[in-house]
Amino acid sequence: MAKVIGHVVVNTERCKGCDLCVVACPSNVLSLHPREVNIKGYHFVYMKNPDDCNGCSNCGLVCPDGALTIYRKRVE
Ligand code: SF4
Ligand code: SF4
Repeated sequence: MAKVIGHVVVNTERCKGCDLCVVACPSNVLSLHPREVNIKGYHFVYMKNPDDCNGCSNCGLVCPDGALTIYRKRVE
């Protein structure tokens, strides 16, 4: 059966570290970066568990700042 894998690209300068996408992800893929910050001083989101992303787009839908772009790929 075909499987879908997803990938999230974060616009790190747009992200304000509000955590909404982290909570919205059903697969625990995202996390706020523990050390790095953007130019505004916010800890931005990154893919902590990239292999678990199924491309459901929940994270992108809840982000108030449009900081996330989700890509989906079908693999056999
Ligand atoms: S696309 Fe879905 S599974 Fe992937 S990081 Fe976003 S909410 Fe999580
Ligand atoms: S919802 Fe958007 S602004 Fe908030 S932490 Fe996630 S990517 Fe950053």
